[in-house]
Amino acid sequence: MSDATIPTESAGAAPTGAESGPTSAESALTGAESAPTSAETGAAEPRPPRTALSDEATTLDAADRLRAKRDAFTLDDVIYLDGNSLGALPRAVPHRLAEVVAREWGELRIRSWEESGWWTAPERIGDRVGRLVGAAPGQVVVGDSTSVNVFKAVVAAVRIAQERGAHRDQILVDETTFPTDGYIAESAARMTGCTLRPVAAGDMPTAVGARTAVALVNHVDYRTGRLHDLPGTTAAVHAAGGLVVWDLCHSAGALPVGLDDHGVDLAVGCTYKYLNGGPGAPAYLYVARAHQPRFDSPLPGWNSHADPFGMASAYTPADGSARGRVGTPDILSMLALEAALGVWDDVTIEDVRAKSLALTDFFLRCVEDYVPTGRVQSLTPAAHAERGSQVALRCADAGR
Ligand SMILES: *Cc1c(COP(=O)(O)O)cnc(C)c1O
Repeated sequence: MSDATIPTESAGAAPTGAESGPTSAESALTGAESAPTSAETGAAEPRPPRTALSDEATTLDAADRLRAKRDAFTLDDVIYLDGNSLGALPRAVPHRLAEVVAREWGELRIRSWEESGWWTAPERIGDRVGRLVGAAPGQVVVGDSTSVNVFKAVVAAVRIAQERGAHRDQILVDETTFPTDGYIAESAARMTGCTLRPVAAGDMPTAVGARTAVALVNHVDYRTGRLHDLPGTTAAVHAAGGLVVWDLCHSAGALPVGLDDHGVDLAVGCTYKYLNGGPGAPAYLYVARAHQPRFDSPLPGWNSHADPFGMASAYTPADGSARGRVGTPDILSMLALEAALGVWDDVTIEDVRAKSLALTDFFLRCVEDYVPTGRVQSLTPAAHAERGSQVALRCADAGR
């Protein structure tokens, strides 16, 4: 942010097409070519000189407690604005991956399941993710994609809710959700004899009722960057007797979540956005300890068996978070994620949140200063309590 004339990276290659809309706009708007002069804007009052913002950015950078963290990532002099789609590469990852391939796979081979801790990696790394989202050890397991974990969480949550009463036959879903969550919830509804009700995330507390089995809600809206009320919504769903599944894809690693503190039932999220785990890094599933004995996975693979190597024909689920596993873990991606999580060792999520808000505040001021009035509209709430860690700008020809 210290020099707005440094070209930004194109967002065009982002695999999540829907997400590249706002981020393309962001990238384009910070490029030198798109910064209009005041003559071009036709603005009546003189704008403050650009150097004022640039100087302020330099001063802020110099005082930044997290400044040294940039060096923990492989970043050239580009201003990378797509961390909400694919986090940058932490420097520790290539060396660790090379070691895993050469030594653990190449030399130890099958012994590594035990000796290199491969078998227990999903729970071990799950606990590290847990620390970042306010979950005590033993409740988070890493594996599969977010989509698959949404499926496990929603179906298992419906099963728990229906033990409380078979009349609970509705799944509420955030109506502006990232599409995969909605597709999976629709299938989960059909499989469990429920109906799916799309509801605005902010209206969940009033939409829940005696027929609510589960509410599936995003902590932060992937398009607008709006932060939803996790404590209030969770309490309202509980008051109605239902369970809530939170999707943390855009909040884990960006802001404090407090899963245990707020009594969340189940949660899922990916690790390749704010957790920098790399393309295709495994997702995670949180099952609150209180629900674990009744967590009845719709995908009871052998990795979730109490005695996986007993090769029994009858299924007996493991205790604890391992009950959320399915098949053989994707070790290479998982250990890349583990190495990537090292960047958090000396950083608190509170410090990251403070910097994130400072950056998005500053970015919005730059937009106000650089962009002709009315040219773009920010979809991201100005209030800190309602903002995630991104800025989304609506612009008629964002692609261009
Ligand atoms: C990024 C994202 C996903 C991605 O799901 P995958 O199965 O990991 O590809 C799902 N839900 C939300 C809300 C997301 O932001």
